[in-house]
Amino acid sequence: MSAVSSSSPVVDPKGAYRDELIAAGLLISTGVDGIYGRSARFEQVVDALQDSITRMTTPDKPELMRFPPLLSRKDFLDSGYLKGFPHLAGTVHCFCGNEADHRRLLECVEEGKDWSDMQEAAEVVVTPAACYPIYPIVARRGPLPAEGLLVDVSSYCFRHEPSIDPCRMQMFRMRENVRIGTAEQVLAFREDWLKRGFAWVEKLELPVAIDLANDPFFGRAGKLMAVGQIDQQLKFEMLVPVTSEENPTACVSCNYHITHFSEIWPLRDQNGEMAHTSCVAFGIERITLALFRHHGFDIDSWPAGVRAELWP
Ligand code: ATP
Ligand code: ZN
Repeated sequence: MSAVSSSSPVVDPKGAYRDELIAAGLLISTGVDGIYGRSARFEQVVDALQDSITRMTTPDKPELMRFPPLLSRKDFLDSGYLKGFPHLAGTVHCFCGNEADHRRLLECVEEGKDWSDMQEAAEVVVTPAACYPIYPIVARRGPLPAEGLLVDVSSYCFRHEPSIDPCRMQMFRMRENVRIGTAEQVLAFREDWLKRGFAWVEKLELPVAIDLANDPFFGRAGKLMAVGQIDQQLKFEMLVPVTSEENPTACVSCNYHITHFSEIWPLRDQNGEMAHTSCVAFGIERITLALFRHHGFDIDSWPAGVRAELWP
């Protein structure tokens, strides 16, 4: 099945699965690890997953917000993302020079020299997680209503983690429901989603396990942050084997940020207390890849129960 030549002594199963997906016309190679085009068949599943999540969450009456995959540079810096994940961030830089600078730029390109010093940081960066734009926006509205807030948000997200594992993309879609409110409201949301998220992945007939997890914080200080995150049980992942049995892939995450975002932006509940926040995040491409892995590349022959959930 693998498109890798039989003369290769060691075949990495992650790379082999990526080659299979490309050979089958599900993903389209761009020549860059982690950046793929998506075919009609792939997008058919993506759309069905998005619709299935919408049907599941509509009774909760979330407020829908959609943003382009860019974030204000100021909000990004305020969020502290660079403290935890400088290695994953994608910043946007643009040419702002005069005609002489332009000539110099083209000369550098022509001669294969570095031209990045002629680029200036733009007022935007690439969104690292779908929920990032909403916290400063909700904070600017003033105190939360008594029932708090539930937001449905979705975006392409960027993380600089080039990999031959098709599940580790540099740009991918993240669909999230975000709860902002009192500690009780937010913890109830998290408890609820640990059950609902799991049950939903099971309906897709994927082998799923829940585990405590930590974010990939940078450096030595990051190791301590990761330990703290595990100790406080702040992140749970729904894991499905896709490219490896031993290291299953996080397809859905439930994160509890405690008051991290209300320490940065004035998110306050009705009583003026610091709001707590939590999000459930669905990795749309990863769930799509898990479905193709477990049910095959021919959507028409997927199990009836899976098809009924996706195309009712
Ligand atoms: P991992 O532990 O695999 O690096 P993560 O913990 O960093 O993932 P989150 O930050 O919780 O992931 O992101 C939310 C969801 O987005 C994940 O559950 C996953 O489904 C998806 N996701 C994260 N990183 C990637 C990626 N590089 N490519 C595709 N999907 C991703
Ligand atoms: Zn989030």
